[in-house]
Amino acid sequence: TDIRQVSLDASGVTVAFGGFRALTDVTLSITPGAVHGLIGPNGAGKTTMVNVLTGFQAPTGGQVTLGRRDVGVLSAHDLRRAGIARTFQAGRLFTGFDVLDNLAVTGVGLGHSRHASEVEAMRLLDWMGVPHLAEVPAAGLPYTDERRVGIARALMFAPQFLLLDEPAAGMSETEAADLAALINRVASDLGTGVLLIEHNVGLVLSVSDHVYVLDAGQIIEEGDRGVITASRAVRDAYFGADQEA
Ligand code: ADP
Repeated sequence: TDIRQVSLDASGVTVAFGGFRALTDVTLSITPGAVHGLIGPNGAGKTTMVNVLTGFQAPTGGQVTLGRRDVGVLSAHDLRRAGIARTFQAGRLFTGFDVLDNLAVTGVGLGHSRHASEVEAMRLLDWMGVPHLAEVPAAGLPYTDERRVGIARALMFAPQFLLLDEPAAGMSETEAADLAALINRVASDLGTGVLLIEHNVGLVLSVSDHVYVLDAGQIIEEGDRGVITASRAVRDAYFGADQEA
């Protein structure tokens, strides 16, 4: 079987923090070569879900599987090795290094030589259309470039699945459109399954093949752009059911 055909699935995932349930019975599937959106109001559980799918949060109940493999029990490190990479809301770059070295360090960490890692990092920056960033110090990088480098660093793992946590935060509409084009290329050209969490709902709807909507820890709607746009439940979640008479 082609490994690229395996999907990353959450099945009945629940996360409780003490008596509070951040996620209740969440089931979703991330398929290769497609972009999936995860939206919902503040506190809906989006970041918690990404943390579960990337091994930063153990589920209280339910399962996370990669093909037939139960990966819900793996550490973040082991999940990266299994092909699941993520970005973070804050950059987390090594500020003493330039951009190329920030990426190459990841390759070295995976056991590649420094030279091979630098070649791969440069190839990636070229592919993303930002080769000019290679020798720029990571410290003081403009915010949008920092976001791009965060994605590049995740791509250094050559992941089967890439989870993006608020990648467009602080971006202008033009910059967000560039990001959308990049996300589409990651899915279509690299065959990566993408999960995109964003406050920018317009961006999510424009770029996603399939969107999940979380509210108070539960999936209240899923489907393509048309389904989400037409959903009364989604509008109620964002604007409050009481608002409309
Ligand atoms: P979102 O990303 O959709 O804004 P989060 O996943 O960050 O939502 O949070 C969902 C809910 O879980 C929030 O009410 C939040 O306060 C709570 N929560 C998140 N992480 C923890 C934690 N480590 N301990 C206790 N409560 C948490």
